[in-house]
Amino acid sequence: MGGSSELIFRGHESQPINDDYSPKPNKRWLSFTLNPINYLLREQRLLFTLLGVFIATAFFTLLPSHNTNLNQYDTVPIPYFTQHDSVFPTNHQSNRHVAAVHSFGKVPLGIKRKGLRIVVTGGAGFVGSHLVDRLIARGDSVIVVDNFFTGRKENVMHHFGNPRFELIRHDVVEPLLLEVDQIYHLACPASPVHYKFNPTNVVGTLNMLGLAKRVGARFLLTSTSEVYGDPLQHPQKETYWGNVNPIGVRSCYDEGKRTAETLTMDYHRGAGVEVRIARIFNTYGPRMCLDDGRVVSNFVAQALRKEPMTVYGDGKQTRSFQYVSDLVEGLMRLMEGEHVGPFNLGNPGEFTMLELAKVVQETIDPDASIEYRPNTEDDPHKRKPDISRAKELLGWEPKVDLRKGLPLMVSDFRQRIFGDHKEGSTVA
Ligand code: NAD
Repeated sequence: MGGSSELIFRGHESQPINDDYSPKPNKRWLSFTLNPINYLLREQRLLFTLLGVFIATAFFTLLPSHNTNLNQYDTVPIPYFTQHDSVFPTNHQSNRHVAAVHSFGKVPLGIKRKGLRIVVTGGAGFVGSHLVDRLIARGDSVIVVDNFFTGRKENVMHHFGNPRFELIRHDVVEPLLLEVDQIYHLACPASPVHYKFNPTNVVGTLNMLGLAKRVGARFLLTSTSEVYGDPLQHPQKETYWGNVNPIGVRSCYDEGKRTAETLTMDYHRGAGVEVRIARIFNTYGPRMCLDDGRVVSNFVAQALRKEPMTVYGDGKQTRSFQYVSDLVEGLMRLMEGEHVGPFNLGNPGEFTMLELAKVVQETIDPDASIEYRPNTEDDPHKRKPDISRAKELLGWEPKVDLRKGLPLMVSDFRQRIFGDHKEGSTVA
């Protein structure tokens, strides 16, 4: 201690005494604040800095960055059905999809988006498998969870061997733990012939919500237009509460989905889980089950097999038909967007069953006949989505009309019915 004080004292002694001495800390502070300004003013550095700012601003403004203008996808009409001849998308293809998918988020070109880990329950089914194609093409890692009740391995086989793809045979009524960022919950038998044998997916939804809560994942429920029952409001808006028979033969599906929506909102409000709800209207396209009692697949399969198309009732009940690529686009926009929903996702084009039969005749066989049968119990008289909410908040609307989409489905069905070896692959 003594030595050190001595050293300090000697130091002071050696300094010349200066009355103008100002304490060091102040001086350092002043130079710290003035130096950058001096630096900038010296040798026109300010000019160069401003020039740099100007160039950067011009670059990011003029860059063809992504916005919500839907017209920019008009060049990509049915994006992912064109790539299925190859097992993996080429870089060019996947870049195109990345651009399309992220058009609603501002990611400058050249900056790669980090891939997400995503579970798709029911991913081996009709809608799920198309969704998986898009997610894989976008660069995400996808885990399909499916018990193959109505789904088929063939629907996702083209991803086997891709390190970003996994397939788990699992029934969602049993709990499952996976580390993921997003959960698209589609697992549920969706057609009348199937859901009557395997009623409701309430427990499955509960399990997947539990998983979302545990791992902090965002959860999307694929609900249905059936929650509107036999609607007394036309077209149906999301604010309409529906007209559903709670004890009918279709109730296991309708009420099951209504309960699933309730659970989803309860997990959102009560446990802070980030959720999204889509109410899907009739959707058709390649990979639909051949004989599952849904009207479009029924008519197409029957016309191809030269059997009469079965029309239930007088055939004047209406439905709207959405092509699957439009639905998948809507689901992804919903998942990535800011809004919980529910959102109607469907094509507002309305057809009576007889009009649909006519389009099938035009597409497949002008001589295809119609056979009338008594109507099924609780069959809704009309169904047509009001999609203004999805248009406004998701910047989404369907692009593929029935006359354009049906031939794509027909060639897939033709391949599967007449034993073409490309079964399960999607057609361009
Ligand atoms: P789909 O039957 O082709 O697909 C459902 C998938 O879920 C199948 O792969 C099936 O094997 C699987 N699955 C069923 N129960 C399961 C369980 N307990 N555990 C794990 N997997 C299970 O039907 P889709 O048309 O692809 O429908 C997908 C989702 O969209 C469903 O939730 C359905 O309710 C909803 N939806 C579809 C439509 C439509 O028109 N396609 C309309 C409204 C709602």
